[in-house]
Amino acid sequence: MAKVKVAMDWLAGCAGCEMSVLDMDERLVQLLEKIELTSTPITDLKHPPKEGVTVGILSGTVNNTVNVEVAKEMRERCKILVALGDCAVFGGVMTMRNFCDMNEALKRAYVETESTVEGTIPSSEELAKPIKACPVKDIAKVDVFLPGCPPSADAIHYVLSELVQGRIPVLTGENLKYD
Ligand code: SF4
Repeated sequence: MAKVKVAMDWLAGCAGCEMSVLDMDERLVQLLEKIELTSTPITDLKHPPKEGVTVGILSGTVNNTVNVEVAKEMRERCKILVALGDCAVFGGVMTMRNFCDMNEALKRAYVETESTVEGTIPSSEELAKPIKACPVKDIAKVDVFLPGCPPSADAIHYVLSELVQGRIPVLTGENLKYD
């Protein structure tokens, strides 16, 4: 049986969700007998393949113009899109920035932090432009929401196992956490 193609990418996040993926430990090795991970931040292979994948997984908040491009590209190239973690599902802590003026937030981050000396706000045409932070669903249709900060390895394993079997996972009990 052909392996199910799965692509992962991250937006604005802390990599905790990816650590939780790795926390599946030996179960990840078993899953790899059934799935092909075409691209992931873990392997530093970017962009889902042009020919498409069955499952696309996005972690992190949509926080800038490049995040928007990454989210749209994943949506175009996958059949089932999974939002992995509270940042992708709800917007997460990043959305606290939405309560501030953008320039004030940038100034606080790059100039005023207690550990910064002579900081400047980065400015280049090549850099992504910050936007109002939002969950993935505000940019692209999401088929499976997997909350948690991060979701547990058990919950991620359950979701991937169901998707490999051709079923849309229904999260309940311990797998459905918001912390
Ligand atoms: Fe990090 Fe939590 Fe966001 Fe995942 S949901 S990227 S663990 S802050």
